[in-house]
Amino acid sequence: MTELAYTEPKPKIYAGAKDDWEVVIGLEVHAQVSSKSKLFSGASTKFGAEPNSNVSLVDAAMPGMLPVINEFCVEQAVRTGLGLKAEINLYSRFDRKNYFYPDLPQGYQISQLYHPIVGEGEILVDMEPGVARKVRVERIHIEQDAGKSVHDMDPEMSFVDLNRTGIALMEIVSRPDIRGPEEAAEYVRKLRQILRYLSTCDGNMQEGSMRADVNVSVCKAGTYEKFRASDNDFSILGTRCEIKNMNSMRFIQQAIDHEAKRQIAIIEDGGTIDQETRLYDPVKSETRSMRSKEEAHDYRYFPCPDLLPLEIEQSWVDSIAAGLPELPDDKKARFVSDYGMTEYDAGVLTADVANATYFETVAKGRDGKMAANWVINELFGRLNKEDHSIEESPISATQLGGVLDLITKGDISGKIAKELFEIVWTEGGDPAEIVEARGMKQVTDTGAIEAAVDEVMAANPDKVAAAKAKPSMAGWFVGQVMKATGGKANPKAVNEIIRAKLGIE
Ligand code: ADP
Ligand code: MG
Repeated sequence: MTELAYTEPKPKIYAGAKDDWEVVIGLEVHAQVSSKSKLFSGASTKFGAEPNSNVSLVDAAMPGMLPVINEFCVEQAVRTGLGLKAEINLYSRFDRKNYFYPDLPQGYQISQLYHPIVGEGEILVDMEPGVARKVRVERIHIEQDAGKSVHDMDPEMSFVDLNRTGIALMEIVSRPDIRGPEEAAEYVRKLRQILRYLSTCDGNMQEGSMRADVNVSVCKAGTYEKFRASDNDFSILGTRCEIKNMNSMRFIQQAIDHEAKRQIAIIEDGGTIDQETRLYDPVKSETRSMRSKEEAHDYRYFPCPDLLPLEIEQSWVDSIAAGLPELPDDKKARFVSDYGMTEYDAGVLTADVANATYFETVAKGRDGKMAANWVINELFGRLNKEDHSIEESPISATQLGGVLDLITKGDISGKIAKELFEIVWTEGGDPAEIVEARGMKQVTDTGAIEAAVDEVMAANPDKVAAAKAKPSMAGWFVGQVMKATGGKANPKAVNEIIRAKLGIE
């Protein structure tokens, strides 16, 4: 499969009071594995359950309980790695990251610091047709999620809900290759699209299935190129701040913008940036310091003694690779080459698998461009207006295909097709039968059209004389004949017959 050609976008430039600045961004995305049970226990992961009802003794960290690895979760991490064209590490290991948190009863999180299951990969971030940036993925590791502290139910007390505790997360860490707020949002969007294609994470940001920690630093022009030429020498870059737990594309963009401007103002004022963890407050439109940044050694990481190293077989990885679906970049490139559509349209149709499958069902054995037009303009337009997903479409791909067949056969005009679309949308039914039953078929029988033309001309001798003198008047007759035939006459035939009768070339 060939890749679509692209050029890299320019980094976003921030004009400070004294200088121009560039921004450098690296993202750590936490993606919840789509698994029915947790990473180390059999407890359910169902969202929205009664607080503390999805908690096993392992999740509650009762003394003597031991974690047991969930093979399905490991498989999803491998699948994700393969989907990001990353190297899969046959040997990985779990480490304890020690910290106290009321919603983490173990007192540590089981994660993978030293030997993650997935190594270097990449994500192509599409900005606009022909413009994309290849962002390197540094690693993906598997870890447990923590629970949730609830502070707003009682003025005196806090509550804890351990339903999330122990749910499997994949932490997908990018290299600091993202060069602007829009790119960061597009990176998350593209990652979410790939995860959904792979069905390893549902990507539901409202439910917290995907959250991003956003690392931001600023530097002058040329600095980033020096960093890229080095062997990941981070000291070349500016000091970064990490904005925690972002769960919307819009907030990610806003937070980066504010953070970049904050850092530039401090540096231009002669100050220095403290490496710290910050929170974004969308109401005040600012980032606030949460804590100074811990280093790995603050967590006293050590190999988890309760779990053996994770050793997987290459043959297992190969079988997972063999089962991967066609991914967004490949699908998009194929749509452009197979159906001759624009890259933009291909992007719209491949935004998610359901859209793409619907389109391909309609396009099968039909004109690809025509199918793309109808799916994007009529169907998606209508679905958007009514806030329906493609799964809820009242018109199936087979029904829409039926409408297109009637146009191709010349049974209905484009205009009648839109009326037919409307009928099928609201009433359902087989398009061909509807056209037959309601007499919507286009009249191509020239005899019938001629009769209609003669009738109109006989009733309007003055207009006939005028049109003979001024050929542009012929349009008036076309309108009258279309009206007289209820819009069913083939407009091309009508036009030809009128012009012939008026003696116009
Ligand atoms: P930690 O896990 O302590 O947050 P990592 O070394 O794993 O630290 O890096 C976290 C993220 O920060 C990565 O996405 C990395 O690319 C990014 N990053 C590192 N240095 C910078 C920097 N100077 N500017 C922007 N992003 C950075
Ligand atoms: Mg981090």
